[in-house]
Amino acid sequence: MTTLLLKSPLAGWCMPLSEVPDPVFAERMAGDGVAIDPTGNILYAPCDGVIVPLKDAKHALTIHTASGHDILLHVGIDTVKLAGEGFAALVQAGQHVTTGQALLRFDLDLIARRARSAVTPILLASGGSVRRRTESGVVAVGDFLMEVELGLLVGELRTPAVGAEEISQFFNIDFDHGLHARPAARVAAALRPFDARVTFILRDRSANARSTVALMSLGVYRGDIIEVRAAGSEAENALAALESLLGAPVGSAVVALPQEVAVVKIPNVESRAGHIKAVIASGGVAIGEAAQLFQPEISVREIGDGVERETVALNAAIAIVKLNIESLVKTANGEQQTILAAHVELIQDPELASRADDWLRRGTSAGYAWRKALRSIVDTLRADGDAHMMERVADLRDLENQVLLVLDGRCPGQTRDLPERAILIADELLPSQLVSLDPARVAGICTARGGPTSHVAIIAAAMGIPALVAAGPLILEIIDGTRLILNADRGHLHVSPELVEIKAAQQDLAQRASQQAADIAAAQDICRTRDQLQIKVYANLGALAEAAPAVAKGAEGCGLLRTEFLFLDRREPPDENEQAREYQMIATTLGSRPLTIRTLDIGGDKPIAYLPLPREDNPALGLRGLRTSLWQPELLRTQLRAILRVQPASQCRILLPMVTDIGDVRVVRALLNELQIEMGIAELPALGIMIETPASALLADQLVGEVDFLSIGTNDLSQYTLAMDRGHPELAARLDALHPAVLRLIEAVANAGNTQHKEVAVCGGLGSDPIAIPILIGLGVDEVSAVPALIPRIKRVIRSLDASACAVLAQEALAQTSATAVRALVEAWLVRQSAQSVSGA
Ligand code: PEP
Ligand code: MG
Repeated sequence: MTTLLLKSPLAGWCMPLSEVPDPVFAERMAGDGVAIDPTGNILYAPCDGVIVPLKDAKHALTIHTASGHDILLHVGIDTVKLAGEGFAALVQAGQHVTTGQALLRFDLDLIARRARSAVTPILLASGGSVRRRTESGVVAVGDFLMEVELGLLVGELRTPAVGAEEISQFFNIDFDHGLHARPAARVAAALRPFDARVTFILRDRSANARSTVALMSLGVYRGDIIEVRAAGSEAENALAALESLLGAPVGSAVVALPQEVAVVKIPNVESRAGHIKAVIASGGVAIGEAAQLFQPEISVREIGDGVERETVALNAAIAIVKLNIESLVKTANGEQQTILAAHVELIQDPELASRADDWLRRGTSAGYAWRKALRSIVDTLRADGDAHMMERVADLRDLENQVLLVLDGRCPGQTRDLPERAILIADELLPSQLVSLDPARVAGICTARGGPTSHVAIIAAAMGIPALVAAGPLILEIIDGTRLILNADRGHLHVSPELVEIKAAQQDLAQRASQQAADIAAAQDICRTRDQLQIKVYANLGALAEAAPAVAKGAEGCGLLRTEFLFLDRREPPDENEQAREYQMIATTLGSRPLTIRTLDIGGDKPIAYLPLPREDNPALGLRGLRTSLWQPELLRTQLRAILRVQPASQCRILLPMVTDIGDVRVVRALLNELQIEMGIAELPALGIMIETPASALLADQLVGEVDFLSIGTNDLSQYTLAMDRGHPELAARLDALHPAVLRLIEAVANAGNTQHKEVAVCGGLGSDPIAIPILIGLGVDEVSAVPALIPRIKRVIRSLDASACAVLAQEALAQTSATAVRALVEAWLVRQSAQSVSGA
């Protein structure tokens, strides 16, 4: 008989299952085992095995052993209702783990307060019986827990002959949290007496109904209709037993075996030792040591000391946090300043105040009221499901923490000491955490969650800190002080690299530094290819503070001023005077360089509170960009009047976002003509359109006749062409504008512009991508507008190229089958080009 030794996964008090305060576990419906009342907050692996994917069950984990058995570790009782709050997974589904490895971090305080019990059953979910066990007493992590005789697996029981009849019934699942551990165990227990094979099917996946773990893996939610198939001599009795648990069936059928259904399988994916893949949020390479920024949730009392007292305490804490942020605003610049200013607005939000007030009046403590108010707003944002809005959740959580810290008698921006070259590791990094850390010590950032358009990502890019996001929970397991190489050019974190790898990375960094110095020295010169084709290199700007540094980096103008910065995070739109003043200051800072002012690109992922945009199921396809401006023509009229006041008038170009066809342009043209007369202006600025929808790219030959220039927004153009949300962290790595489908559209736009001798620019992310530059030149693009920090490098790349060779390369790129193939093609081509130029020199 095979046996398996299980070590204690927790420190705490060990007890027999019969003492667990829940009949499902106490009566062993989910399997035999023991339970521990934990005193620690980390769950460790009791044996070697692979983590089984359990849908949305952050409070429970299952290890699939080499012998084929499943060990279920269920942290606390009734913890499913916490919906993952207070749990941070340290391993991923499919990952191989070894005995003693940290699996899950949990907030014991929160569980004690909000769940029925913290007692954690450790169970043999797939069968087997316990030969020896620790009956009761104190256990430490790694102590002997039990020895198991493995016996038969539940999946090996009762297999009826192929060809037998199978009864099929459909049930509506009505358990509060779907088929989580306890209902799943009840199902398995209900079937135990019967000789029947029973399978639960949800969409195209199925699970053996005798296995609690397999049922949990199906991911059945309340309201799902599942099909239950039963075969064998007692199939009917088995289904009748299920009826008493699941209610009356909502339909039935009889089918013949075997059925083609994909069985839920437990993957055996090993994570690549040493390298963790992630999404790039801010480019660059960093060598340093891990500094974990784990933030345990601050606990708050529910009941307060009287409405008046708690209200005073809350208002005082809010005032302190506000003062602290305001003092940070003074020393911050650019994006940091904009984001912190938004936090100042957010913390004074009247809706937030009124929700907190409601809770205070119910007699809760200040902290409880504040948390409840913020979380109700977070829930609303989450319910909208929009990825961009979800990233704003981090801002709200940030404010929650800061106020709770003050109520707890601590400093709002309290941070930890960092080692000299820290690579910050966090589940999610909050904006205030980042700005309050000593930037001189932050070499890089890697977060388990988050998206590339989050505020933290933007701040990191503005601070020039290489950053990766969406790296997965594995990174939370990295021990403080571990050597790391963060490669935010290639999108991976290298954990504990060998000495030779560190040396190579150091050399790479040194070369980058000297190359950067040389690039900056040459950045002020205009930029021609080797065969003398001039390519203009402009900067994308999002605030006045960015204009001067962009000029210093060699920007020959601004190819895209995102005017949203003036409109977001405030209570009413800026009036004409305020806008005119701001645009004028940017124009003046740019000297005589062109300033391309894009009209408001609002709506979709950038809602503004004072504009009551209708609720949309699919905001990216709804009222956004020019559509919003045409829907609120007064807003557009005011903005155009402000732009027309900038002097000298010839310095400005007007750019319209999200155009789809000629009708859009004609409406704006007519408005401009009207304003020209109204304001007595001699000549109107050049008018251009963003090409960022497949429609406008395909109609570029029509549109170009109506405008003075075209500017391709590759961020949206690829989102709409590839049908991938640009804010989606899971898809971020695949949303590559070098996809041949996007390149073919760019070619059509460039051809349209060149035929009618109108300038074609690229102001989307592709214009900041050195690998894309030869292709863009080869397709006939005249201007790129890039992230200011990258301008010196982009200029160097352009100077090294031959435009006629780029044209040949671009045609080859159009024939590739994927963005990856295009990247590989260009990388190989660049190596050949540089080898040729060395041998020709
Ligand atoms: C784009 O879509 O490429 C673009 C430049 O516009 P934004 O990123 O502001 O939507
Ligand atoms: Mg866009």
